[in-house]
Amino acid sequence: MDEMASGLVLVIEDEEGLLSTLDYNLQKNGFQTRTAMTGAEGLELASTEPVPDLILLDLMLPDIPGTQVCRSLRENELTREVFVIILTARGDEIDRVVGFEVGADDYVVKPFSMRELMLRVKVILRRRMPPEALLDEHVFGMLRIDQDGHRVWVGEEEIQLTALEFRLLNVLLRRKGRVQTRTILLDDVWGIEADVTTRTVDTHIKRLRVKLGTAGDYIETIRGVGYRFRARVNGVPE
Ligand code: CA
Repeated sequence: MDEMASGLVLVIEDEEGLLSTLDYNLQKNGFQTRTAMTGAEGLELASTEPVPDLILLDLMLPDIPGTQVCRSLRENELTREVFVIILTARGDEIDRVVGFEVGADDYVVKPFSMRELMLRVKVILRRRMPPEALLDEHVFGMLRIDQDGHRVWVGEEEIQLTALEFRLLNVLLRRKGRVQTRTILLDDVWGIEADVTTRTVDTHIKRLRVKLGTAGDYIETIRGVGYRFRARVNGVPE
C-alpha cells in the first residue's frame, strides 16, 4: 500500500484531459494542487505564497515555451529551489540535456504511467531538504559543514577550503540530487560578472574533490552537462 504524501504541487499543462488526470491523481495521493494551462499563469501561481514544493511542467505550452518557464523559475529568488519535473512528448537526449540546462530536476516522457510519476514525485519530495538543513551545521555521510564558521570536516579531519571552494561545495550540497550546469555554477558561485570561463568550474571542482578525499565522490560529473551532489549516501536516502 502506498503511504500518503504531503506537499503542494503545481501542474502547468495545456492538455485539459491530462491536466485534470494529473490533478486528480495528485490529490488522491495526498498532495495539494494548483493548476495552470499557460506558462504565464503557471509563473504567477509558482511565485504565489506558499510557493509550491514541486512543479510538473509541460514543454509545449501555448504562450511561453516550457524551457523559458523553467529558466524564469530559476531566476526568481522565490522559486529557484523548487523541484521541477518536465513533461515532454519527445524522448530524445536533446530534451534531457536542454531540460537540465534550464534547471529542471527530472523529466518524464509522454505517455507516462501515472502511478510511476506519482511515485517519482513522492520520492523527490521525501528527500526535499528541510529548512533546518540551511542552518548552522549540515551533515551528509562523512561530510560535516559548519556554515557560520565556514569549516568543513571529512570524518574527524578538518579540511582547509578557500572561500570560493566553500561556496562551491555549499551550492552543490544545498541543491543535492539536482544537476548544476557549469553556467549556473559560474553565476551562483563566481557571480555573473566574473571574468572566468566554464573551464574554471572544472578546475575548481577537481581541486575541491582532491581536498575532500573520499567525500569527493559525493560530487558526480554529469558528462556534457555539469555536476551534481549525490542525493543520498550509499544509495540510502539521507
Ligand atoms: Ca502541451
